[in-house]
Amino acid sequence: MSKRGLYIHVPFCVRKCPYCDFYSLSGAEELYSGYAAAVRRNLAYYDEPFDTVYFGGGTPNLITPYMAEILSEVNFSPDAEITSECNPASAGSDTLQAMRRSGINRLSVGVQSLQDNELQKLGRLHNSSDAEKLILSAEKAGFDSISADIMLGIPGQTATSLTDTLKRLSLLPVQHISAYMLTLEPATPYGKNPPVDMADDEQMADLYALCQEICRELGFIQYEISNFAQKGFECRHNLKYWRDEEYLGIGPAAHSFYQGKRFAVPKDLRGFIAAPRQTTEITDDSPGDYDEQVMMGLRLAEGISEELYMPLLPGLKLLPPEYYLLENGRLRLTAAGFPVYNYIVSLLLAHTN
Ligand code: SF4
Repeated sequence: MSKRGLYIHVPFCVRKCPYCDFYSLSGAEELYSGYAAAVRRNLAYYDEPFDTVYFGGGTPNLITPYMAEILSEVNFSPDAEITSECNPASAGSDTLQAMRRSGINRLSVGVQSLQDNELQKLGRLHNSSDAEKLILSAEKAGFDSISADIMLGIPGQTATSLTDTLKRLSLLPVQHISAYMLTLEPATPYGKNPPVDMADDEQMADLYALCQEICRELGFIQYEISNFAQKGFECRHNLKYWRDEEYLGIGPAAHSFYQGKRFAVPKDLRGFIAAPRQTTEITDDSPGDYDEQVMMGLRLAEGISEELYMPLLPGLKLLPPEYYLLENGRLRLTAAGFPVYNYIVSLLLAHTN
């Protein structure tokens, strides 16, 4: 079995964004050190070598002063990919240098857009210039693997503004782009009171198709439904999720797929800090079934093996041929197939033999 990945959920943000339902608390600075101690305590139970580590959140750069000591508890292999998410509103060059010194070698920057009006709509605390400066400072600090998150379907976003954002990103030292669709999560302010100018399904589909096209023109290869990278810069940690490989999650709200089971840590920061070892709730005790492998595998441009796709042949006959490719013993979706992934997967799984 390949080595597992390690995910560390950092549940702090300076301020909650109105569309976000990730578990994080704002104004909880007094809990940073207790949280870091709890992460270290939990990591001490594991001495296996991890080959990817991912600090996600939340806003991981807020705990930069504790990153080195947390990583000192991790038995990671010398070539490990060690990523941290980073928010342009709360990280400057000192933070970036400290992150790099602590062992982080890949940065995932929450850019979202390079249009100030769109960033305001999203309630973000940074502007486009902060994001551009952060990426340039990251390169100066020694990061040679930088990803930018952008969002599709921001109220007011147009084909022109998305094109401008992507083209400006390509002029920066960015090797990877993740493009996520803005969705209305019921428990968030946006979910309860949606902006009037939210993109509808048709606009979203157009923005997605445009993003695919521009990324391709700019040399970013689509390797997953929402992810584009220059060759060799695919996110090794996230690939484990899509390939149905195991990973361990530490921290409140973290999920794991570990020793054949999926489990989650409760969304309770104070409980996490107080407990000698994090509590977990099983979410799936027989993961990795056939449907799951098909659903995860078809998200990837590499697709699925012959062994997995043979039962799907009856459904494939019902699909327009431009949506998929069958070659070299693999079934994979094409650029035209990715936008209708949900339709394709449900049709295929409904017609297995
Ligand atoms: S989008 Fe990022 S910065 Fe905003 S609340 Fe969510 S995790 Fe925090």
